[in-house]
Order: sequence, then C-alpha cells, then structure tokens
Amino acid sequence: MSDKKNITKQDTTEKIVSLSKRRGFIFQSSEIYGGLNGCYDYGPLGIELLKNIKEAWWKEMTYREDVEGLDASILMHPRVWEASGHVEHFSDPMVDCKECKARFREDLIEDAECGNKGYKGRKAVKCMEEGKFTEARSFNLMFKTFIGPLEDSSNAVFLRPETAQGIYVNFNNVRESSRQKVPFGIAQIGKAFRNEINTKNFLFRTREFEQMEMQFFVNPSEDEKWFEYWREQRMKWFEKYGMKEGKLKLHIHEKLAHYAKAAVDIEYEFPFGWGEIEGIHNRTDFDLKRHTEFSGKKLEYFDDQKKERYIPYVIETSAGASRSFFAFLCNAYDEEEVSKENSDGTSSSETRTVLHFHPALAPVKAAVFPLVNRDGMQEIAHGITDDLRKNFKVFYDDSGAVGRRYRRQDECGTPFCFTVDSDTLTDGSVTVRERDTMVQERISKDRITDYLNSKLKQN
Ligand code: ATP
Repeated sequence: MSDKKNITKQDTTEKIVSLSKRRGFIFQSSEIYGGLNGCYDYGPLGIELLKNIKEAWWKEMTYREDVEGLDASILMHPRVWEASGHVEHFSDPMVDCKECKARFREDLIEDAECGNKGYKGRKAVKCMEEGKFTEARSFNLMFKTFIGPLEDSSNAVFLRPETAQGIYVNFNNVRESSRQKVPFGIAQIGKAFRNEINTKNFLFRTREFEQMEMQFFVNPSEDEKWFEYWREQRMKWFEKYGMKEGKLKLHIHEKLAHYAKAAVDIEYEFPFGWGEIEGIHNRTDFDLKRHTEFSGKKLEYFDDQKKERYIPYVIETSAGASRSFFAFLCNAYDEEEVSKENSDGTSSSETRTVLHFHPALAPVKAAVFPLVNRDGMQEIAHGITDDLRKNFKVFYDDSGAVGRRYRRQDECGTPFCFTVDSDTLTDGSVTVRERDTMVQERISKDRITDYLNSKLKQN
C-alpha cells in the first residue's frame, strides 16, 4: 500500500529541521534577534514529545524498588567542580584557522568542514595539513557566572555541565531518608550546560540541553554484574520505544576517562552518521571518594548484615533527553508514496511525510474531525474532543478536506484520527484511521476512550 521513497541522507536532516519548525517541534532560540547559536526552544509539539520521553524514562528508571528520584539545583558549591575534576579536566582542545578565523575542536576535526565560504565542502583536516591552524589550546567547557552583585573570583559559580554531581553530593541524604540499602540508584532529569566550541547537527550538540541520569551504587565486588545489567536495560528501553532495528549499536570505549573502569555508549545512526545518545559507565568509587576528600564528609556505606564498610562503586547511565528527542524524531521520520482517491473516482499517488512515533511518545494521541461543518457534526466532534481531553492530548480540526487533515496529523505523528460523518448521526459510529497502516474502521463513539486506552497500552 505504501512505498518508501529514496531519501538521501544529506537532506533528511534539513527536512527534519524544516518540519520541526513548520509543525512546532523546535524553534531556534531568540529567532527574531537572529538566533542564539547552540540553543533551541521546544514548541507546542516539541514540549509534548520531550515530556513523553522524560516520563517514559522516569517511569522505567524510578518506578521500581531500588531507584529513588532527585531534583538537585543547577548552581552548586564551586568546590563540587574541583572535586569532580571538571575544573581541571573538563576541557576540549581548541584550534583556530588563521585564514578564515573559524574555530574547531581538534579531536573532532575529521568531521569538520572548512569555514571559508569560498571553499564550500572542503574538509577542515585539509586546512590543518596545510598548516593553517594555530596550536591547540585547552578550553574549559563550563559556563561561569557569579553569585551576588560582585563579579570577583570568590563569588564564581558554574552552571552544571552534568546532573550527576548533584546526585553524588546527596548520596547520604537520599540513602538515609529513603532507607535504601546498597545496591540502589538515584535518578535525575535536568538541564546541563556546556560551552561547546562547535555546535552542529541541530539538537545533537547544543550549549544548553537536558540529561536523564541515574547513578547506581553497588558493592565494588559486584560492579561488573551491574554494569552488564544496566547496559542491557538501557538498550532495551530504546528498543521498547520503537528504535528501528539496525539503528542502534554499542560502542565500547578502549580509551577511558580518568574516573572510569569501563564505558560503553549507545549510539544511534543519525542521518549524518553514528552518534552517542547515552553513556553507561563504571565510575568506580572515584566520585564519592573525591567528595569525601573535598567536603570532609564521609560518603560510604555500612552493610550491617555482612558487617562490611566500603565506598560504593557507581554504575552510571547518562542519556541526553534532547539528543534522544532528536534520535526519536529521526527514527520516526519517513516519506512514503501512497495512493490517493481523486474526486472523479480515479486514484493517483502522492508523497506523505509521516512521523511513526511510538504511541506513548507521540505528542498528540488523537485528532477529531467533523467530516463537514453542518448537521450537528461539529458539536458531536467537540463533545468527543472534550471527553478525550480529560485523559489525552487531543487535536480538533474542522478545516479543509479530510485527506489534508490526515496528512497534517501524519506530519505531527498523531497515531489515531476519529471522524464524525453522516453515519454518526444515525448509528453513533465514527471512523477511526490508524496512522501507520492508514486502515480505517468504524467503532461506536461511546467506545473511543476505551479504544484509545487499549491501543496505547498495547504498545
Ligand atoms: P560528546 O563526546 O558527544 O561530547 P560526552 O561523551 O561528553 O559527549 P557525556 O558527558 O557522557 O557526553 O554526556 C552524557 C549524554 O549527554 C550524552 O550521551 C548526550 O546524550 C548528552 N550530551 C552531552 N553533551 C551534549 C550536548 N552538547 N548537547 C546535547 N546533548 C549532550
């Protein structure tokens, strides 16, 4: 019934960026002022999708016996970032092109393009080989600001570059108040800020973004078992929410960060290539030890059954909410050739752009249409919409041909459309059209809520 169009990789990102703006997923930050590089705003559909991703993660990670939630503040005591190693190590090597003045991350030079407009498409690595670059300088990625009116170094604080540290410093608070025993985890969703040298590929690398992190505290003798466990769980989570087969892979790190014993990334194949969406790390006892050392407060655990005292190891699952959003958007995007009924009874083909979101992630769960705006159909459709809105995000649309309305909803990723027509007036049934198969069936209008509930639960 539908045929995949041959979409080239290069233009898919552009199409997704354009659809994101057209349908209200993502806008450039401060667009009317020319935009702010590396910052984006989530529009009406974007915020629903992002909220649904975060909710799916939150439920998966915290609706269980051994994980507690937390929401720590973005600004933290400056010593936190000395203890964590961010003041010393959280930097990238930066180089400048002496000719075009463009600035690059030296370690990502292979993927970069020359900034000179006259050399369109030229690889930056070529400019590097030709000696056009300055020596690499180390650039710390943390955003600095000041507490209070005086801008002197004693008042300097940082916008957190990751949410994890808020968890470590609350280890005792959470464990004691929740009476958790090791092994247990603490999960947090929140904003993080990094003054990235280059931002590119839309939402992939931005300066302000959201993370969904969970730190799982374990007995050091069980670290490998838990590392395997969480690696599998996290991969399954992406699959459960519809990531296509072959689009995810694990990348095992050979070169490890100073704090890590093992690290693996979950990568997604974006239109521009493979990119990390989540990191799973065995951070050992590095963080709790360092915070103990810098704060003078013991962050350790006493197992009263085994009579054993130790500093737990940490298995971290660190996902980008914004990066996952982009991955789910790319994963859902499709262009299909579909047949269309013409008014003279003939049929022809047209291209539909559709977002095949998993129903739980779809920003809008259903749309309701009156077939025509007369005979009381609008009133019935409004009644259905009001009823559904008690439980679901629903869109009402009474403008244009029904085929056009379906296409609009396809582009928003709405899984179900209900249409009120002349049969509704006589037998109380409506048409329900499913987004992916485009199959239509009739159900009683009194069953719509149950129908939607069961369909959303099935997936
Ligand atoms: P990269 O190597 O891409 O800079 P990283 O290894 O520094 O990333 P982590 O510190 O492990 O990333 O961060 C965990 C997650 O946070 C990443 O998997 C990613 O999803 C997200 N993330 C990190 N930096 C950014 C960013 N600049 N923009 C959007 N998301 C980000």
